[in-house]
Amino acid sequence: MTKSDLKSLVTQMYHELLENIDTQQEPNKEQVITYLQDVVMTIQNINDGDIDSVEHAKLAFSNAYKEIANKTLSSYKNTNNKFEKLTQIQEKTVQNCEDQLIDMPAIKEKLDEIQDHMSEEVQRANKVISELAAQVKELEESSNLDSLTKIFNRRALDGYLQKLCAKKELQHKLHILLLDIDDFKHINDKYGHIAGDKVLIFVARLLRKTLRDGDKVFRYGGEEFLIVLNRINKETCQKIAKRILTLVSSNQLFYQGKSLKVTMSLGATMYYPGDTPETIIGRADKALYKSKKNGKNQMHMEGKNGV
Ligand code: GH3
Ligand code: MG
Ligand code: MG
Repeated sequence: MTKSDLKSLVTQMYHELLENIDTQQEPNKEQVITYLQDVVMTIQNINDGDIDSVEHAKLAFSNAYKEIANKTLSSYKNTNNKFEKLTQIQEKTVQNCEDQLIDMPAIKEKLDEIQDHMSEEVQRANKVISELAAQVKELEESSNLDSLTKIFNRRALDGYLQKLCAKKELQHKLHILLLDIDDFKHINDKYGHIAGDKVLIFVARLLRKTLRDGDKVFRYGGEEFLIVLNRINKETCQKIAKRILTLVSSNQLFYQGKSLKVTMSLGATMYYPGDTPETIIGRADKALYKSKKNGKNQMHMEGKNGV
């Protein structure tokens, strides 16, 4: 990514922020903070040109997101208007009751009317929600970022590994680390799915923070991450892998006043010329399996012929 690319990206974000502020009638501090946090994350995700960073960063701020936000706002406005009408009907009904003798059939009719309005609104809201969910999914699939953790997604990894393995020779050594959160199902079961999601965000942030610019972090699957370490030898790879495990296990995540303990298991391997995405991930997976089998919260390395 060139300096002028970055400049034009930041300028674009700046204009979009202004536009966003203009379109929201009463923008609040949280909305601006959320937007700026997204911007920071996007910029943090920009590495070298390998994975078309400029394009996916722009995508993350494309009009589609704005469209989603606008749709949500207009849907809420709509619902609000309906509720106002319902309140008026209710007030009238109460007034009628005070003026006259209680007319049960009329009350029932009004209540039925309210119920019809409500179920119509719920149906409409459900439709909007499922449309939005489908749009978010589509956006995620067409971009290279994982929507939950804001790190590169599986799609980006597949593209990266294919390009890597297509090269005949590499100028420098390259290692990959496959990491899997230990007993993650237990975390979900004990504290709930939202706590699980927070753990994933927490781990992704730690991993990104601890690595160098040239290294890459991907979300490989549900609670699995993959790191590509550039330009290091086997000993340094082992050191970094151990450092990551210590970092994760020694950092505490607080959720609703409770401290969640998170550990990870890790499998590492080096890239060898002639590797395919399947062979290199296969070796890392084998090493990861050994770490799990051996008691978790540890690392193993797998060489080409099992050494
Ligand atoms: P192990 O130590 O052997 O890795 O056990 P584990 O419980 O971590 O692994 P298992 O494969 O049994 O469970 C993984 C769980 O991760 C199951 C699935 O519901 C959960 N999961 C996958 N993706 C997400 C996600 O995006 N959010 C949350 N909260 N949970 C997820
Ligand atoms: Mg797993
Ligand atoms: Mg796991």
